[in-house]
Amino acid sequence: MPELHFDNAFVRELPGDPETGPGLREVRGALHSSVAPTAVSAPRLMAHSAEMAEILGFGEDHVKSRLFADVFAGNALLPGMQTYAANYGGHQFGHWAGQLGDGRAISLGEVISPAGQRWELQLKGAGPTPYSRSADGRAVLRSSIREFLCSEAMHHLGVPTTRALCLLATGDSVVRDMFYDGHPAAEPGAVVCRVAPSFIRFGNFELPAARGDTALLNRLVDFTIARDFPHLTGTGDTLRGDWFGEVCARTATMIAHWMRVGFVHGVMNTDNMSILGLTIDYGPYGWIDNFDPDWTPNTTDRQHRRYRFGQQPQVAHWNLACLAQALAPVFGSIEPLHAGLQRYIDTCTENQKINIAAKLGFVECREEDVALMQDLHDLMSTAEIDMTLFFRALSDLGTSAPTIETFAGAFYDEGKCAAAADEFNAWLARYRQRRDDDPQSAEQRRTRMRAVNPRYVLRNWLAQQAIDRAHQGDETGIHELLEVMRHPYDDQPGRDFYAQRRPDWARNRAGCSMLSCSS
Ligand code: AMP
Ligand code: MG
Repeated sequence: MPELHFDNAFVRELPGDPETGPGLREVRGALHSSVAPTAVSAPRLMAHSAEMAEILGFGEDHVKSRLFADVFAGNALLPGMQTYAANYGGHQFGHWAGQLGDGRAISLGEVISPAGQRWELQLKGAGPTPYSRSADGRAVLRSSIREFLCSEAMHHLGVPTTRALCLLATGDSVVRDMFYDGHPAAEPGAVVCRVAPSFIRFGNFELPAARGDTALLNRLVDFTIARDFPHLTGTGDTLRGDWFGEVCARTATMIAHWMRVGFVHGVMNTDNMSILGLTIDYGPYGWIDNFDPDWTPNTTDRQHRRYRFGQQPQVAHWNLACLAQALAPVFGSIEPLHAGLQRYIDTCTENQKINIAAKLGFVECREEDVALMQDLHDLMSTAEIDMTLFFRALSDLGTSAPTIETFAGAFYDEGKCAAAADEFNAWLARYRQRRDDDPQSAEQRRTRMRAVNPRYVLRNWLAQQAIDRAHQGDETGIHELLEVMRHPYDDQPGRDFYAQRRPDWARNRAGCSMLSCSS
């Protein structure tokens, strides 16, 4: 193993739980509890991210070693590691849920990489912690494959995200009632080692605030600014206001990327919102196939669709308002908090324009382009058009005069395609006129559009196929998919399979179009 340099600031500088071990408890006055991973029967490396391994200083030999599998399945520790679970609360589906905490994630510590960056290593599915409540602290293979693949895919798409170093089989089975219908079954277990500069969530601030523990809240705010926002200077409310404003702006940017690539998080509870504006906690997430702003993959949210695709910008604002409310006691005036929330709205508006111009291939977003995009969205939704395929085809038009036939491969329903033909062609004519008024050369436009409109995304059915194959003992599907998702904006010869619209069999299949929170 390379010599890893640990600097475990979170546990060193912030108050910890005097009690150690996994016993369930309410933890007050502390932000973390010392707890070790529970060993598994047969750790085995299934996949890893070569990029993340390199960043941390692991060579291929290290990754393939017995020790690597032992460490990242939770069976061994390296010198300098200090294991803990974080204490946080959160609003779940609009309601305050009290203490939640890392119920199955155990941090190994904060590594300073050879390049001088801080990366916290965290095992998801590593066994019980004081925050496991009624659950087992474990994770099943299917959800672990999904988290591993999606965090790396998002990174390569240019979306702010936590990363994944590796995916390990544990050799143990985990019992889950996947459909919550009284049919629990044993499934293979797994552990993902995820990596981020910080895993602090909105909920870390909300819990001490809800308990009236202003002293603890103050310490966490000071710590977060010093460790995770070192570029901010100043003091008092000015500094804290700048910090909150930056959290708001980063969150707006993350959401804009989700909307650009068609990602639906599925569980935007405040305990799943990163203070760094990173996509975190990959659970029942999904990717838009046919464009539908009302779609959510999360079956638990089927009724109210709180976390549907089109509502993600509003939900993030609601979540930031919860954070602002939690932070109010440690601000002299609430003015900077209001200003931060306004910054969120302004950044969203700005980013929306950036997305419109970039996805449609214009150097700027004019007033009328907002309506052009909105009309396209309406059309894509009623005519059931594949979001990714449509924008990619639009990127490759050159100077041609497109008609509906150009996009035939992006439609899901022949009848709806025929019914939409006139309206669709009218939209294309409008688009062409606007495009011909744009100063870029066709080549410039194509290059820019292809850099924001991916050819490959982690379509729900693709991930599910990799999972099905892994359950049958063939793990190569995971590696193939990871390889494709490393270059989502390139045309990859021989890999058309991965750029297909959702096949009919996947339309209503569990794991492909709908997912439960069971993981
Ligand atoms: P999530 O909605 O997946 O972010 O989870 C919400 C809360 O439930 C977090 O506090 C998790 O740590 C906890 N949790 C989820 N699954 C498990 C599990 N299998 N064992 C223990 N805690 C869990
Ligand atoms: Mg969570």
